[in-house]
Amino acid sequence: MLRLKNVKKTYKEANGHSLPILDIPSFEVDHGEQMVLIGPSGSGKTTLLHVIAGIVTADPGSEVWIDGVNMQSRSESGRDHLRAMKLGYVFQTFNLLPGFTALENVLLGMTFGKRKKDTARAHELLDRVGLSHRLKHRPTAMSVGEQQRVAVARALANRPAVLLADEPTANVDPANQEQIVELIRDTCREERISMVLVTHSMDVAAKFDRVDRLQDLNLVMQRAKSTAS
Ligand code: ADP
Ligand code: MG
Repeated sequence: MLRLKNVKKTYKEANGHSLPILDIPSFEVDHGEQMVLIGPSGSGKTTLLHVIAGIVTADPGSEVWIDGVNMQSRSESGRDHLRAMKLGYVFQTFNLLPGFTALENVLLGMTFGKRKKDTARAHELLDRVGLSHRLKHRPTAMSVGEQQRVAVARALANRPAVLLADEPTANVDPANQEQIVELIRDTCREERISMVLVTHSMDVAAKFDRVDRLQDLNLVMQRAKSTAS
């Protein structure tokens, strides 16, 4: 379902030096599998999700296969299309559109043609995240926990093949953290959506059967460790 092969990402610094962030020979997530990637702050978690989603391009030769298509070999518009069709993304900072209601934000998570037909799904998802009484609220009139629950519903709206979640509880109050992680996990399980959640939190990771450490996958981190010791 999701397969990475020789994925490298190097940033060019202002002084012209290369800054390698990722060098991942291989990484796979099965269809319908939910897993966590754990790594400390600055270890490249967000960069990796951006590469998987095609938001940034990896170094030439990197392969990111989603449902049989190599995201990294596509043009920018091809990546945008693939992302809209196949992926859901939960951002650390929610990224809801401020001028739109909860219901509208969820509908905007669906590809264009589907929106009219699938209002029922938007209602169902907002009900599932416990917000059926907040359909007409805009983000500014919601708590952060509520905003992230809307963002989860939006990411699932299009029935993605793969859901990517970037530290989805990092900016949420503790009372909502557990609920949000379980909501993501259980919905993905029920709908057989593959899921990659990145976090630095052991508490979050403990809720999943498969937990990979980024430092075990990423040769850049292993090289850094061996020069440090
Ligand atoms: P994490 O999400 O694990 O905290 P990031 O993927 O955000 O880590 O960042 C990994 C490293 O890449 C950091 O050292 C960061 O400074 C660097 N980095 C991120 N984005 C850029 C960029 N656009 N240009 C240069 N370096 C970057
Ligand atoms: Mg990050």
